[in-house]
Amino acid sequence: MLSQSFKPCELPPSAQELRAEVRDFLAEALREYSRADRAYSWMGFDAQFTRQLAARGWIGMTWPAQYGGGGRTAFERYVVVEELLACGAPVLAHWTADRQSGPLILKVGTEEQKQRFLPAICRGESYFCIGMSEPDSGSDLAATRTRADRVPGGWRVNGAKLWTTNAHRCHWMIALVRTTPGAEKHQGLSQVIIDLQAQGVTIRPIRDLAGESHFNEVVFDDVFVPDDQLVGTEGNGWQQVMSELAFERSGPERYLSSVALLAELIRAVGRHPGERVRVAVGRMVAQIVVLRQMSLSIAGLLERGQDPLVEAACVKDLGTGLEQLIPELAHTLTDLPPSLQTDGDYQRVLAYVTQVAPSFSLRGGTREIIRGIIARGLGLR
Ligand SMILES: Cc1cc2nc3c(=O)[nH]c(=O)nc-3n(C[C@H](O)[C@H](O)[C@H](O)COP(=O)(O)OP(=O)(O)OC[C@H]3O[C@@H](n4cnc5c(N)ncnc54)[C@H](O)[C@@H]3O)c2cc1C
Repeated sequence: MLSQSFKPCELPPSAQELRAEVRDFLAEALREYSRADRAYSWMGFDAQFTRQLAARGWIGMTWPAQYGGGGRTAFERYVVVEELLACGAPVLAHWTADRQSGPLILKVGTEEQKQRFLPAICRGESYFCIGMSEPDSGSDLAATRTRADRVPGGWRVNGAKLWTTNAHRCHWMIALVRTTPGAEKHQGLSQVIIDLQAQGVTIRPIRDLAGESHFNEVVFDDVFVPDDQLVGTEGNGWQQVMSELAFERSGPERYLSSVALLAELIRAVGRHPGERVRVAVGRMVAQIVVLRQMSLSIAGLLERGQDPLVEAACVKDLGTGLEQLIPELAHTLTDLPPSLQTDGDYQRVLAYVTQVAPSFSLRGGTREIIRGIIARGLGLR
């Protein structure tokens, strides 16, 4: 059943033509970026780069022109995203807005919300973050406790979100909140757009294993959210986040997070590596090729307006497995130890990717949860 969803999909000529243009742009825009900096992949933040990309029309590029978008196809967007990730471009500033917040607003938002929020995203000026996880509600997202209580003109939000990537630099959060207390777990949830500069919002950094502070705890203490910032239908939050997660889990970022390390490994082993290295590198590349085909066929489903939640879960599970295998194999293929205190690009990239790799199968839904979704899609549970 599922295998039929992964239809072979070729990129149309318009998308292929765009590739050369994107490569030229990146070669110039990232001239100053070291190879070690590129290992940050989509966790690299550079507001100026985001504005440059926006000026090219490569943010919100599939959205209608009336909202500032480029009106291009999902395949053209795929090529741009693929090129950005393959060369380690610092895309975090606009990443979430472009990938999922904007598409969500486009799908279920009001006309007023589309006009208000989408053009600023396309200009690279407005950043969004995802407010789903909470201190006691990660995998079990329906256990969300952050409350939005009705008050004249809007809602009062109280509670806390956890692990919110980039919240400290974002303007807006789309948060999953409980709008009907006492309702059945999956009912009574809604999504609201919260102004992160509003009174009552506190953002505290959390340090990760690599010593970076890219995610946060965000606490809401009586934060007022006006009526016109409820996204979609009140009480329909669960269905909306499930559909949003298909955007979050299917893209090339779910198998390319370690690609900078693979590139450095190939450089480090030189032009004539031994048989063991050649076989291992060949296997990694072969897996990337297959994952790319699977991810491309999901782009095809998105282009046709479908909600490929289960297919996206497959790509994420297999893709993050490969992303974690690359640093593991790299350790066994050279004698160079990982180190951040060296000028050697390979050793620095190996050290960074090794430290962040455990997070690849947590962010966007853990491996166990993703496999549960696949099992349900296959009718096994
Ligand atoms: C780098 C990074 C960035 C993130 N960014 C964001 C963000 O921007 N916004 C956001 O909302 N969240 C974000 N997250 C949070 C992420 O989505 C959660 O960490 C994840 O969903 C798991 O939730 P949890 O941490 O509460 O773990 P738990 O849900 O407590 O899970 C702990 C362990 O138990 C397992 N487990 C739980 N339930 C089951 C079950 N039913 N069956 C089998 N096993 C189970 C899990 O698989 C996991 O191994 C981020 C996480 C990381 C690591």
